Amino acid sequence: MSFSPWPHRSDHTDSRPARANGESDAIRGPAGPWHEAAIRGASALGDTLHAGNHTRDFSLARTEYLRNRILVCGVIFALLTPLWLIVDTLLLPASTLAFIMPGRFFLLGGLIATLFLAYHAKGRPLRARLAAGLLIALPAAFYGLMLLSLPPGQVHLLVGYSFIPYLLVAVLSIFPFTLSESLFAGLVMLTLEWLAQERAGIWLTPAGWQGLWLLGVLLAISLTANHFHLSLLLRLYRQATHDPLTGLFNRRALHQALRQSRERHPERILGLMMVDIDHFKRLNDEHGHAFGDHVLWRVARQLEDSVRKAGGVAARYGGEEFLLVLPGAQPDALARHAESLRRQVEHMRLLDYDGQPVSITISVGLAALRPDETAEQALRQADARLYRAKAAGRNQVMTA
Ligand code: GH3
Ligand code: MG
Ligand code: MG
Repeated sequence: MSFSPWPHRSDHTDSRPARANGESDAIRGPAGPWHEAAIRGASALGDTLHAGNHTRDFSLARTEYLRNRILVCGVIFALLTPLWLIVDTLLLPASTLAFIMPGRFFLLGGLIATLFLAYHAKGRPLRARLAAGLLIALPAAFYGLMLLSLPPGQVHLLVGYSFIPYLLVAVLSIFPFTLSESLFAGLVMLTLEWLAQERAGIWLTPAGWQGLWLLGVLLAISLTANHFHLSLLLRLYRQATHDPLTGLFNRRALHQALRQSRERHPERILGLMMVDIDHFKRLNDEHGHAFGDHVLWRVARQLEDSVRKAGGVAARYGGEEFLLVLPGAQPDALARHAESLRRQVEHMRLLDYDGQPVSITISVGLAALRPDETAEQALRQADARLYRAKAAGRNQVMTA
């Protein structure tokens, strides 16, 4: 579907089930699910490198994490900004203080505006990222302006200020930033450090190199922390929204995605397909539970492929029950799609532990979710039609 909560992007794409112990090649088949394992590390790095691959749903979750941290750090920065004036008053000469004092009040104003922005960034990823950027950029700009406005001879008097680029690089590690976001901030801090060293006359001296080395090491530590932080969030998010066996959306995530889709496109009609594997209990009894799991995985791939082409979403709705949602599906098109899916499953090539072919079938109940209906009403209708498909002999699609 063209709206983004659907599982097409990378925080959703890892659809490999947990490998069952003792599973044989016969049931995995030649194109088993495990061959993708080798690319896993690379794709995880891709997901933390930039936010381009994240779904809207995950972006919203990340926004909340960002907001919480901006609010905590922002309050600490906002308290320290005027408090540090005590240190300034004790250490700096009156002429330097005259530069610092208004700068600190501007910084405080900026930090309060940032807190306001972050507070109102609920559900607004761009605003949260802007607030996070400001939280890092404002103290950096304050220090940069002090360096530029003080006469060169007085820069060494800025006691307690030279750690600002280091502190800000360390602060990057608290946030679930992508690596490119942190790298950008890190480059800005390196520029600030260059300016500080240039003004203090230690650029390219041993003392200057020592500072650059420390800044580089801190940046590397922060980037590592960002990578693990964001990977963990992605994994937790995935576990909370996906079925571990099939890799499809779970029921809760599907309802959430349906809700979001209807909020964003209230006029859109959605086609629902309730799919149930026929005589699955018998299949489990005859071939074993592990084979049953494999069949669920194979059917899930077939369903996922088919809805992906149509821009929809597939979810595991219950044990051997799946729900497919298609955008704007007209009744005829939906029925044709379901019939083609039914045939594809019927002709799927499955081999059991002994290499013997096994055939399976599905029954499907269809319904349209119209703007004036609740999702529950349409789901009940699809379920009732699935029940009728079963009663009419299974392996068929039931429309209105
Ligand atoms: P029908 O054609 O009427 O749908 O019959 P059925 O046997 O498919 O349906 P029934 O509801 O009687 O049985 C569903 C079975 O699905 C029972 C349960 O053990 C099995 N099942 C549910 N979840 C899983 C799972 O994750 N793995 C395996 N292997 N089996 C499962
Ligand atoms: Mg069944
Ligand atoms: Mg069932």
